[in-house]
Amino acid sequence: MADPTTFEQNLAAADKYLARFAALPLPHFINGEPHGGSANATFANQSPIDGRHLGDVTSGTSTDIDAAARAAASAFEEWSNTPGAERKRILHRVADLIEEHAHQIAVTESVDTGQTMRFMGHAALRGAANFRFFADQAPAANDGRSLPTPDHVNYTTRHPIGPVGVITPWNTPFMLSTWKIAPALAAGCTVVHKPAEWSPFTAHLLAEFASEAGLPPGVLNVVHGLGETAGASLTEHPEIKAIAFVGESGTGSKIQAQGAPSLKRLHFELGGKNPVIVFDDADIDRALDAAIFMIYSLNGERCTSSSRVLIQSTIYDEFVDRLANKMKRVPVGHPLDPSSVIGPLIHPRHHEKVCSYHDLARDEGATVVRGTSWADAPAGGNWVEPVLFTGATNDMRIAQEEIFGPALTAIAFSDEADAVEIANRTDYGLAGYVWTNDIARGHRVAHALEAGMVWINSQNVRHLPTPFGGTKASGIGRDGGDWSFDFYMETKNIAVAFGHHVIPKLGG
Ligand code: NAD
Repeated sequence: MADPTTFEQNLAAADKYLARFAALPLPHFINGEPHGGSANATFANQSPIDGRHLGDVTSGTSTDIDAAARAAASAFEEWSNTPGAERKRILHRVADLIEEHAHQIAVTESVDTGQTMRFMGHAALRGAANFRFFADQAPAANDGRSLPTPDHVNYTTRHPIGPVGVITPWNTPFMLSTWKIAPALAAGCTVVHKPAEWSPFTAHLLAEFASEAGLPPGVLNVVHGLGETAGASLTEHPEIKAIAFVGESGTGSKIQAQGAPSLKRLHFELGGKNPVIVFDDADIDRALDAAIFMIYSLNGERCTSSSRVLIQSTIYDEFVDRLANKMKRVPVGHPLDPSSVIGPLIHPRHHEKVCSYHDLARDEGATVVRGTSWADAPAGGNWVEPVLFTGATNDMRIAQEEIFGPALTAIAFSDEADAVEIANRTDYGLAGYVWTNDIARGHRVAHALEAGMVWINSQNVRHLPTPFGGTKASGIGRDGGDWSFDFYMETKNIAVAFGHHVIPKLGG
């Protein structure tokens, strides 16, 4: 980012960028224009930093969802027939605008979510990278495969499925929404986006940048509102052919039921309770840094966080001591201060949930090691210190439930079989991390883990062409690379006979 990033400059930038949201209720964005909603109803958006009122947000109704879905349906024919090269050009322009406004996006997201600038700057740029990656795939998105036989040429083609709904959560909302919206647009689909009600601001910025980049009206629409009203209507709307959803597992199962009558195609990225398994032959320094990074970055509000660290008993005490020492030095501070790692949690309700696990850990018999808090934290914010739960066992709720905060549960294991058994004994199956210098064991454990993604001797380093997604209660389907197009497109097989195959003669 070329823009200023000192604390003072970020504070000044926040005043400038957030003023518009305080001045007027945040509208929907339908058919290329701001839209005030049919019900004249709004909900308040509060700062995680100090509880201050950041602005009002239009509360979407089924009528608003209907308007957006119809706009997306009307725009579909033109957009789906726009040549891939032209879609590519427009989507690269969106990426250009994201890069030009990366500091604005990062500051806005940081104030709206409490996530620190250290990570939000990268997240904004990752949003641009997502657009560029999928833009480049647009020209070949319709291409299929040739599967000939001696009698026939079979070839496949792909066609965009139609208008789709994208429903996103409040952790890194901008980046996550681009991960869904960019491939949908590249495939030729039109989109209705329902962002999380706790972090609505940057969805509007994305719609504005997309419009400025030349995306035709109706191709990307945004409707704000609550999950059980606006979100539910979107999942039920007959014009919407598929729903890409990122959020909690329980919400996923509700959406499955809501979408059933209209036979929605669904893609779910849900919760996780991801194990990081550290064997005693691992590069301990790197494993420590990775375990710390993957739980205390992004406020621990991260689906792929390393929320359970499984440590071989031979090194358990030493590893846990070193984890605790490092964790105590992770700074909590104002999210706009570039030196802060942990900022306030998104919402008082989430704060209460995360903190309830501190007491629960003690009640369950684990030891709670607390990190530092921020002495000057503004009153009224959702401030939390990082914690490490040691001496835990895998049957405890702190080892089974997704806390979604800066809280790491440390569990000892005896050998490889024990590690795999503990790792897999959870409802979730999103990601797993394995640390060992025994290459064969690394592969064996990776194969045995019930997870959609495994990293060996690595933290979560993403490569956009690779598949992303989870098993069990962590999700249905994959995106990334061509997997995204498989979701947003229908595959058709066309069989052409050479003219000499036998056609059975019935009836003479
Ligand atoms: P959530 O499920 O409460 O909400 C997510 C979105 O769904 C919001 O926009 C919400 O308004 C909407 N929603 C709620 N009820 C709905 C309904 N009945 N119908 C339609 N939409 C509805 O999740 P959250 O608390 O915002 O986000 C945190 C969760 O997201 C965590 O579980 C986290 O692991 C998960 N997550 C998963 C991934 C992944 O890739 N697997 C990535 C990020 C976050």
